[in-house]
Amino acid sequence: MIRIALFIFIGSVVWLMGRIACQNAQEAQEKSTFPPMKEKGHFVQCAYCDTHIPERESIQKGNTHFCCEQHRQLYRG
Ligand SMILES: [Zn+2]
Repeated sequence: MIRIALFIFIGSVVWLMGRIACQNAQEAQEKSTFPPMKEKGHFVQCAYCDTHIPERESIQKGNTHFCCEQHRQLYRG
């Protein structure tokens, strides 16, 4: 009889831990649904080679963006 009680006890502990793990996984999933691009900022395209680069790392000339100083100089148009 004590074996059955022990079995039920272990079973309920495993079930409870499974529930906690499931809740944690759900919370982590909810957090990961936030757009990851928000932190990195806006991405722009190099007018010369079409490479996508973060806006703050780009070289800007008017409304045109470039990935490096060399492409800014090479660009005509
Ligand atoms: Zn470029």
